[in-house]
Amino acid sequence: MATISKAKTLVKNSLQLKFGLSYILIIAAVLILLNTYPLLVSENLVFRSKATTLQSSVSVIVSSLGGLEKLTEDNVTQTMTVAEDTGLSRILVTDASSRVLYDTRETGSAVGHYTFYTEIVQALVGNDAFTCSYENGAFRSRASSPVLYQGRIIGAVYAYEYDTEEAALLKGFQSNVQRLSVIIAVLVIAFSMVLSRALTRKIGELLDAIRRVREGAYSHRTVIHGHDEIAQIGDEFNSLTDRLQKTEESRRRFVSDASHELKTPLAAIRLLTDSILQTDNIDPATAREFVADIGSEANRLSRITEDLLRLTRLDSDVLEPPAEVDVLPVLQQVLRMMELIAEEKAVTVTYEAAEGCTVLATRDEIHQVIYNLLDNAVKYTGPGGRVELRLEREDGWVILSVADNGVGIPEGDIPRIFERFYRVDKARSREAGGTGLGLSIVSDTVKKRGGTISAANRPEGGAVFTVRWPAAEGGIQA
Ligand code: ADP
Repeated sequence: MATISKAKTLVKNSLQLKFGLSYILIIAAVLILLNTYPLLVSENLVFRSKATTLQSSVSVIVSSLGGLEKLTEDNVTQTMTVAEDTGLSRILVTDASSRVLYDTRETGSAVGHYTFYTEIVQALVGNDAFTCSYENGAFRSRASSPVLYQGRIIGAVYAYEYDTEEAALLKGFQSNVQRLSVIIAVLVIAFSMVLSRALTRKIGELLDAIRRVREGAYSHRTVIHGHDEIAQIGDEFNSLTDRLQKTEESRRRFVSDASHELKTPLAAIRLLTDSILQTDNIDPATAREFVADIGSEANRLSRITEDLLRLTRLDSDVLEPPAEVDVLPVLQQVLRMMELIAEEKAVTVTYEAAEGCTVLATRDEIHQVIYNLLDNAVKYTGPGGRVELRLEREDGWVILSVADNGVGIPEGDIPRIFERFYRVDKARSREAGGTGLGLSIVSDTVKKRGGTISAANRPEGGAVFTVRWPAAEGGIQA
């Protein structure tokens, strides 16, 4: 019991773990994407707009310095004072040797110093430069361009912007996304836990039911609510268990019926032998009579075992390869065999048969079917009775009917007479040497070859059995 619950916990845990982990992995991937991609895109957009505005500010300054032949502190300062306010954090103007001629920063002004900002160095070799970074909650953008006079670089303009406004917007967006991510993560984890627990609970119930049935509790059924696949598996499992229970019950009934059938002649044999042994000076005539009785009980035993073996063979699903068998010669052979018995019972047997009634089966099977039906018809028809056989072909079927004018079958028993060991009148059947297996052998044999069998009472009295086999259309001739 301990191992079962341990295994159950293991399965439960591992499934729950797998479900949980997959949900968490998926949501983690989505959240990572949500937290990076839009931010990167918006950062990039800001960079681009900064590049445009800063570069256009720089080019405005460059063009205002454009008319000068040489840049000096004086003429640059003069030009810059008349230039309109750009709103930039810092503007530097250098000459061609990168010496600072103008600086908007008042404290720590770089005027008169040489500067080696990368952007300025680049501008002095003739390139426009722009860099932008986002750190510590601010966008820092730098741009510079060369100042030309008649195609000659005479200096460079450098602009620097420190922007916290747009950075604050981006930060706000970032923290909103983060908050949203936390809420989504908590919701998804909670949802996945509830879902996976429900799922593993259902699987656990199913597993439990499978184990119980495996241990022999065939009446156990599982109840799984819902309409999902697991509930469907539960339903399928229940119907499988139904079948298993029925098969098990019929197997038990068969074994107990078979033992009971074998017990009766064995008990008779024991009784007869005891009587012979215990009777002193038994006269030879009585002894012979007893021994004859023992012989007939032994015959009965061998008939039962033969029938049982035949049924077991039919159950085993091993079919002999079929051949095309003409039914008429087999029917005539059975009639010859039964002639004496019928005569003894004063029963007239007649037949009507069409030519070319061939079926795919084995000769033995056809023989068995006709013999059992005819034997029953003679057995259950009193002296002076009539048995009529009819063999015909109709719509791709070969139809054999065996009709008698005997006792008939009570209507309520008709559906059960093909069951194993089922007899309408046990004493009468035993007396007539029946085993109660004949019709079930016939029915199984016919069905194995795709045929059907039915029984009915005739309006004029007596029973009629009708066998239908699929007609053979050009097979292997037996
Ligand atoms: P049995 O060995 O008892 O004849 P079967 O399986 O051949 O067993 O038949 C089952 C029961 O069906 C018989 O016990 C009998 O009651 C009934 N039965 C079969 N054939 C006929 C028939 N031709 N007329 C009346 N009853 C029949």
